[in-house]
Amino acid sequence: MNNDLANTIRSKVDIVDVIGERIPLTARGKNFFGVCPFHDDTNPSMSVSREKQIYTCFSCHATGNVFTFLMNYEHMDFKEVLKYLGDRVGIDTGSITVTKKSTKYDKLYDAYRISLKYYQNNLNSTVGKLAKQYLSNRKIDESIIKEFEIGLSLEEKDDLTKLLTKKEYNLVTLNRIGLSSDNHDVYNDRIMFPLYDVNGRVVGFSGRIYKDNGQNKYLNTKETEIFKKGEMLYHYHIAKEECRLKKSVIIMEGFMDVIRSSTIGIRNTVALMGTALTKEQISLIKRLSNQIYLCLDGDDPGVHATLSIGETLLEQGIETKVIALPKPEDPDSFILKNGKDRFQGLIESAQNFSDFKIQKLKENVNFQSDEEKANYINKVIEETAKLEDPIRREVVLKRLAKEFEIGYNTLEMRLNSLLKKEEPKENLKIPQKISTKKDKYTKAFEQIIYFMLNNDWIITQVERERLIFPTEAMRVTCSEIIDYYKTYGSINVADFYTYIQEKEIIREFLNNILAEEYLETTDKEELFRYFKVVREYSTKQEIKRLTNLMKKEIDPIEQAKIVEKIRKLRLGDN
Ligand code: ATP
Ligand code: MN
Repeated sequence: MNNDLANTIRSKVDIVDVIGERIPLTARGKNFFGVCPFHDDTNPSMSVSREKQIYTCFSCHATGNVFTFLMNYEHMDFKEVLKYLGDRVGIDTGSITVTKKSTKYDKLYDAYRISLKYYQNNLNSTVGKLAKQYLSNRKIDESIIKEFEIGLSLEEKDDLTKLLTKKEYNLVTLNRIGLSSDNHDVYNDRIMFPLYDVNGRVVGFSGRIYKDNGQNKYLNTKETEIFKKGEMLYHYHIAKEECRLKKSVIIMEGFMDVIRSSTIGIRNTVALMGTALTKEQISLIKRLSNQIYLCLDGDDPGVHATLSIGETLLEQGIETKVIALPKPEDPDSFILKNGKDRFQGLIESAQNFSDFKIQKLKENVNFQSDEEKANYINKVIEETAKLEDPIRREVVLKRLAKEFEIGYNTLEMRLNSLLKKEEPKENLKIPQKISTKKDKYTKAFEQIIYFMLNNDWIITQVERERLIFPTEAMRVTCSEIIDYYKTYGSINVADFYTYIQEKEIIREFLNNILAEEYLETTDKEELFRYFKVVREYSTKQEIKRLTNLMKKEIDPIEQAKIVEKIRKLRLGDN
C-alpha cells in the first residue's frame, strides 16, 4: 500500500533532521546520538544513522525508519505520518485519506465529545448567564472560552445522564467512565474545563465552582481506561508544536495558568494539575524539549514543589530553570496584574535550579550561629557537587569564599572529596552495544540477513544456495526480503521497514538484530566464511535427521543407504 509514494517521500527526508528537531542529537563518528525517548533513560543510547536512515536504541532495542519514529513518538498512524512528511517535502499526498483507526475506546471518546458539546451549549444559553459573568470577571473572554472549549454543567442532577442514556449508553457504562455516579450526573453547576490526552482528545473534565457554595473548588473526573492522571499533562497536545518553535517548555501548576499565558501568546506550557510529578509525566516532558522551565505558584507549597520537582529532574541529569513568582502569585494572577512584558521579563531572568536552591537554603539560616553557618556552607558545596559544569562549580565556590571569607582551597578540598564519591556516576558515556550470547550459527544466520538488507547480490546468493534458516522469524524475514527485492529491484533497510511495518514478527526480529554489532564489510571472502558456517549448520541438521531416520528403519538395505548418505555428508563437511 502506497509503498512507492512512501519510499519517495522517505528518500527526500533526512531522518537526522526529523529526529534532531525532537530530541537533541550529537554527532559522533558516522552516527548521531541522543537520549532514547522510548524508554526511561538519561544516557544517549539511541543512535541515528544518516547513511542507513534508521535509528537504533542499544538499550531498549527500539529501531526503525523515519516513519516508525514519528508513529511512535508523535502517536500518529502511518497515513498521518505520510501526510506530514509529504507536506514537508512538497509531495502531494492528497490521494491518501486519513481514516481514523477505530479502537475499543471509541464509544468512550464519543461520550466525552457529546458531554463537551452539551456543556458548551449550556454555557452559551440563558442558564449560563451567571457563569459567563464569573468568567468575564476573571477576564476570560469569548475567544478563550471557545479555544479551551469551556462549558457549564447544570444544577439539575440528571440532564447529562439522561441525554447519554437516550443515545444508548447504559448506566453501568456511564458510572464506569466517570460521567455518572450512582446513576446521577457527576457534575452539577460547575464551570467545565475539558481535559485532553496527548492527542488532543477529550478524556475527562475538571469542574470549577463559580458560586460561593462551600464545595471543593475543583472536581476532576475519576481515573478511567482513557484517563490516567499520572500520564497526562494539561495542554500537551498544543505544547507539542509550540515547544519545538520556542525550544523550551514551561511547567505550571494549574490549567488556569496555562490558559492565561496562552492569552499573551505563551503556549509552550503544560500544567501538572496537582503538584506531584510522575515518571510518565517526566518522560512526556522530556519529549517536548530539553530546556525546561518551572513556573509554579509563588506560595510556600509552590516553592516546595519547585524544589522537589527540580531535584527529581536534576537527578536525571536535567537542570531546569526556575521562573520565580512573587508570593503568593500564580502565573494567572501575575499576568493579570502585571501584563505580558513583565512576565516575559521573569522568563528571561529565570535562574538555574541549583542557584535557586542555594538561594532558598539561605533563607531561615541564622548566620550569627557558627554551626548553622558551617552547615549552610556544607550544604551549598553539596549542591555544587551536583553541577556538571566545572566552571559553574568554580563560580559558586568563589562567591561562597568571598561572602564568608573562607579560603577557596578549603572549599575546593571539600568539593573534591564529594566529587570523588560521586564519580562512578559518569553517565555521559555512550553505552556499549549489548552483545547477548548467541551461538556461532545464530550469529552467522543473522549476519547474513543483515547483509541481505544492504546488498542485493547477497540476496541472490542466499537464493542460489537455498539456505534454510533455523527459526520462523528468520525464514519469514528472509522470504520478505526476497519478495521485496523482486518487486522493487533493490533494497535498503529504511524502506524495508515501511514495507514490513505491520508484520510484527519481522519487526521484532529486525529490531533485535539491528541493535547489535554486525560486520559492515562487503568483502566477499569474509562473507563466504559466514556462508560456510551456515552450510555447516545445514549439514549438521541433515545428519541429525538422517540418523533419526536410520534408527527407525528396520530394512538393513535401506539402513545401509542412509549410512552412506551420512558418510558423504560428513566428508563434504570437512
Ligand atoms: P483558580 O485560579 O481557579 O483558583 P488555580 O489554577 O489557581 O485555579 P490551584 O488551587 O493553584 O488552582 O490548583 C492548581 C491545580 O490543581 C488546578 O488546576 C487543579 O487541576 C488542581 N486542583 C486544585 N484544587 C483541586 C481540588 N480540590 N481537587 C482536584 N484538583 C484540584
Ligand atoms: Mn489561581
